[in-house]
Amino acid sequence: MRSPATRSEERGSATVEFALVLPLVLVVALAVLQVGLVLTDQLVVVEAARGGAREAAVTLDDEAVRQAALRAGGRLDPERTEVEITRDGGAGDPVTVDVRYRAPVAVPGVRCSVSVLAATVCGFAVVLALLTLDVSRAIAGRSRAQSAADAAALAAADELALPTGRDPASLAASYAARNGARLVSCRCAEGSGEALVTVEVPIALSILGPDRAVRVSARAVVDEPAIFSSAAGGAGLQPWFARELVCLNRLVPGLVLESGFRTHAEQARLYREKPDLAAPPGHSLHERGLAADLAFPSAEAEARAHALAGSCGLAFPVSGEPWHTSPTGLE
Ligand SMILES: [Zn+2]
Repeated sequence: MRSPATRSEERGSATVEFALVLPLVLVVALAVLQVGLVLTDQLVVVEAARGGAREAAVTLDDEAVRQAALRAGGRLDPERTEVEITRDGGAGDPVTVDVRYRAPVAVPGVRCSVSVLAATVCGFAVVLALLTLDVSRAIAGRSRAQSAADAAALAAADELALPTGRDPASLAASYAARNGARLVSCRCAEGSGEALVTVEVPIALSILGPDRAVRVSARAVVDEPAIFSSAAGGAGLQPWFARELVCLNRLVPGLVLESGFRTHAEQARLYREKPDLAAPPGHSLHERGLAADLAFPSAEAEARAHALAGSCGLAFPVSGEPWHTSPTGLE
């Protein structure tokens, strides 16, 4: 995810959380209040039943008993109060007075807050659905970013291991772009075959914001081609010629580069030492990075290299120098 998770975003999510929790807190508070009122009514109803029973003990007039019960339960609404009198016989026999009271929903908020609760539950469901959508978008973005990072790192590492003259970072950027990502950084140290690449894929999220990004890093290491691991190395060779040598080395393993690019001074020194073998300075393809002297692991490998050179665009043009190779057509 994008690292600058700014303060305003944090504040924003705190506000959202508060807005979601507030109705719940309100509903719970109102419910507690309502329960308290019902408990109070319960005590008053017991008092009303006692008052009615006392009156029933001294009179057979049910209406008088009812009035006595209502008087005893002073705060009860007569409309909502039922008084039932059960006599086991006549005067002097046991009598039961039942008082039933339909307690009103006295807290005005309770009924309305039930709707608020329903709305809150709906809100939670919507938030949950959007979060699920966001998570799946983030996962998809991440996998796209991973592909982009892998491709970019590989391209950069390949360029570092076997330079073609292009900039590893811009090569990584173009491979990232092909996968819909943007290159954030490329730690591509020259002379190594290792590239550490970070890319970013933009994603639009419902909850966390429309312009977010998934950031992913990938590391790729491409070994230096075996043929260039000798002391001479591949430095100074023309990139496309170097690739032709790598091609031949794939077909004939074990080739060693004994001499590749030579400076003018190096060619001059060689010419002084072996005037019959080396070309005069200024006249050698070695000085242009277009010739290589190879050592072969066996006579059989040498014969194979000579036979297959053409398929890699190479030639061994000098009959007395079976080790000297250069691109076809330049000999
Ligand atoms: Zn040569």
